[in-house]
Amino acid sequence: MRVVRTVAELREALAPARGGTSIGLVPTMGAYHEGHLSLFRAAREENGVVVASLFVNPAQFEEGTDLERYPRDEERDARLAEEAGVDLLFAPPVEELYPPGFQTWIEVEQLARGLEGEHRPGHFRGVATICLKLFNIARPQRAYFGQKDAQQAAVIRRMVRDLDLELEIRLIPTVRDDDGLALSSRNARLSPEERLAALALPRALATRDPERARELLRGLHVDYVEVADFEPRVLAAAVRVGSTRLIDNVVLEGGPDEEASPTTGPRAWL
Ligand code: AMP
Repeated sequence: MRVVRTVAELREALAPARGGTSIGLVPTMGAYHEGHLSLFRAAREENGVVVASLFVNPAQFEEGTDLERYPRDEERDARLAEEAGVDLLFAPPVEELYPPGFQTWIEVEQLARGLEGEHRPGHFRGVATICLKLFNIARPQRAYFGQKDAQQAAVIRRMVRDLDLELEIRLIPTVRDDDGLALSSRNARLSPEERLAALALPRALATRDPERARELLRGLHVDYVEVADFEPRVLAAAVRVGSTRLIDNVVLEGGPDEEASPTTGPRAWL
């Protein structure tokens, strides 16, 4: 696996693949866990070249929130990415993607307003903009996203359709710990007591019923529990446990999670 830091370097490294083999891109912010690795493995299976981007995108964090606190360990991430079959790890400094004078943004309107968009103003503008930049730089045939961030996937799919981008968005099922909690880099911040409290989130979603879910989440700080008409439709929720904000969702019909049967392990928890 090669680590590249500049747009020019990545384009050069990908030049031999153009027109020959397919390129799969996995956009990430690092702090890898099994969720990220399942995206890398899916990309490995379906493409000749696998690119992962490792970039903590300042534009998708609100000022004064957890940008500085975001966990960073490039050495560990590089090792895990390589083991999962990544060929090129694109890990640029901030100035490479946001040079002085940067002022062009992608705004997906309605889809980006509710749920996460309401609680994290500007978040999806940052996400859509960085994803379009990464798509333009790597020009992949396929890009891989987690079902865990269902609204993010919906926003990206909308952008791909609306701007006639020539790539396929692949959605990968949410990977969970044995206790049902969806893997997230933010889980590491939970104390043992907070983690126990956080388990109410997957349990509530497992009811697949917004009313019952709300009841089970009583006592936690709930940002929202809502059915969202994405593809696939989901019951999505966000809660705060201590200073940690957690999001999760369960597919209501026709999504990648549906394939799992209740006996096939933690992933089938919901
Ligand atoms: P992040 O590094 O948090 O931006 O996540 C990078 C990608 O990994 C996104 O497409 C996420 O949806 C996906 N992802 C994060 N957590 C999980 C998980 N538990 N299962 C599956 N995919 C995930």
